[in-house]
Amino acid sequence: MNVYKILPIKWRPKSFKDFVGNKNVIKSILNSLKNNKIYTTYLFYGPKGVGKTSLSKLLSKSLNCINSLNGNSCLNCLNCLYIDKGRSSDVIEIDAASKSKIEDIKDILDNIYYLPISMKYKIYIIDEVHMLSRYSFNALLKIFEEPPKYVKFILATTEFNKIPDTILSRCICFNLKPLNINEIFNRLIYISDKELFKYDIKALKLISIYSNGSLRDALILLDQLSLFDNNITLKNTNFFLNRIEDKYIFSFLKYLFLINYKKIIFYLNIFLNKNIDYEYIISNILDKLYKLLLFKVIPNFNCYSIDFVDSNYRFKIIELCKLVNINDINFYYKIFFLNRNNLINFYDKKIFFEYLIFKCIFYNKNKIIS
Ligand SMILES: [Zn+2]
Repeated sequence: MNVYKILPIKWRPKSFKDFVGNKNVIKSILNSLKNNKIYTTYLFYGPKGVGKTSLSKLLSKSLNCINSLNGNSCLNCLNCLYIDKGRSSDVIEIDAASKSKIEDIKDILDNIYYLPISMKYKIYIIDEVHMLSRYSFNALLKIFEEPPKYVKFILATTEFNKIPDTILSRCICFNLKPLNINEIFNRLIYISDKELFKYDIKALKLISIYSNGSLRDALILLDQLSLFDNNITLKNTNFFLNRIEDKYIFSFLKYLFLINYKKIIFYLNIFLNKNIDYEYIISNILDKLYKLLLFKVIPNFNCYSIDFVDSNYRFKIIELCKLVNINDINFYYKIFFLNRNNLINFYDKKIFFEYLIFKCIFYNKNKIIS
């Protein structure tokens, strides 16, 4: 049986050119390498899935590649190949989440004065470095102050605030930001084409939005969808994201505004039968109400995300706008917004959601009568 690598590993960037997003960080690192400004300790921080580990590997390769040109590694020398495969004895990867104790760090430090076996630099990549104990940080600090010339540290963390100032003051720090929707979307298309996946473009757009700037999360979802069906559809993507297609929310709001009981109950049953998370439904309703407000205030409002997944989205918002005034939208928004957190603690989420709907209907009916 072939060993199949998950997409985030299979498509890990091999060179700085392939790295998606955070171009400013890549440019700074390449410039420093080009100008031979090599630091002892690098720190990459930012949310999960934006490429901190990949960047650590790319930097390790560039530092140790024997044919490195303007900061770019050659990808072909033995050092590049070994580091790519994670087989180099001179590039040591440490997961601080499982090796946080002082004894673990002492083990590392005991070996630090041995020269690299075959490469120019002995590089320690410490992932999730914020997990280290105070004693471990103190032990590292001494090394950071006077390291052997051939030793480099690359630290990565999602929790910048937990890194002691004494450590930060000895690192060159790079902040990796969440990727934007387009960066993720373009990468999904590229990889899906290379993998010969069949896909609906709307599905890839939806994955790009819901991965919240994490390319890894986007690729994990793409992997799951490709296993589920050889055609990556919008319907399946909605199912995997445990979300419902926007058309249901649009229709539900329409009948709520019109106080059509039969239809309201019909859609409440759909939400129940599809086992959709009520917190998600409220967030989605809030999102639509917010867009309605925007369109009421600025009828030609132009926002990139409005037409991104569905070209009919703008039309549907405009149609809904005709059924409500600004005061109504404000009222509905307040009801859902103020009760969103209460829903989390309520023993039966379905009942609580329906109670909010009754409140909306009650408001709407009284308004009509008076
Ligand atoms: Zn090389």
